[in-house]
Amino acid sequence: TVKSLEGRVAVITGASSGIGEAAAEHLAELGARVVVLARRADRLGELVTRIEKNGGQAVAIAADVSDAASVQAAADRVLAEFGGADLLFNNAGVMLPAPVDQVRADLWQQEIDTNVTGLMNAIGAFVPQLIASAARTGVADLINTSSIGAQNIYPNFAVYAGTKAFVTHSSRQLRAELGSRNVRVSVVEPGLVRTELQGHVTDPGANAWLDGVKDSLEWLVAEDIARTVGFIATLPRHVNIQQITVMPTAQA
Ligand code: NDP
Repeated sequence: TVKSLEGRVAVITGASSGIGEAAAEHLAELGARVVVLARRADRLGELVTRIEKNGGQAVAIAADVSDAASVQAAADRVLAEFGGADLLFNNAGVMLPAPVDQVRADLWQQEIDTNVTGLMNAIGAFVPQLIASAARTGVADLINTSSIGAQNIYPNFAVYAGTKAFVTHSSRQLRAELGSRNVRVSVVEPGLVRTELQGHVTDPGANAWLDGVKDSLEWLVAEDIARTVGFIATLPRHVNIQQITVMPTAQA
């Protein structure tokens, strides 16, 4: 592999499984030092060991993105130990669909706390570092994970899709705000990716729908999105992928 991200410091949220985990491994292969963040410290520890075994550099920070103070403490540590991040893959998220008339306000709140507040907590904590890095080196990246749910209509996904519409639209707004300071902002909207995300769904109707599509078409794997993130980050500094939707070929 060409080490095209050599010298860069990448923070990946939601790195203990799925897309974030695969992205951490891929960005480390491309030469970035990676800081992996999620709540499950054991899973992060195993990931760091694997990255190091493959010749990469990684540090784990266990934190809940919905807790602003913990995310700021993580950012302070990244500044102290690495001189700051120049890539944030803002990817932690939960998907908990349910029919709206069940009034699962607990699930709505968890989605909003993680996908919206958590996303903004990481932006607030790390964007100052991205701006400072870009002022030094000429480029930094903020890459947010949205979903095809931000574009398409799916019954029972009103709140999840709403949080992802926030991610997509805010990313485009931030791109206009930060581009002139050499911080590229990109939003990635995946279709169905086989990860642990679907394992947290409790609603029987949503699970029946997911089981149906599971067997009817070939889903993406986390590595497909990891490679998309690597592609975005390795483009020449004057090129900014604003928004990219990555679908399984057979998903409508
Ligand atoms: P996973 O469930 O495998 O990964 C989710 C990650 O987010 C885990 O590492 C989890 O770690 C972390 N996370 C969840 N809540 C928190 C929290 N409060 N604080 C810190 N970390 C948290 O699913 P995916 O890899 O599929 O999901 C990654 C992103 O991709 C999400 O934003 C999801 O919405 C999006 N997405 C996924 C699609 C799919 O089909 N899989 C399609 C479109 C978008 P931990 O539990 O250890 O904290």
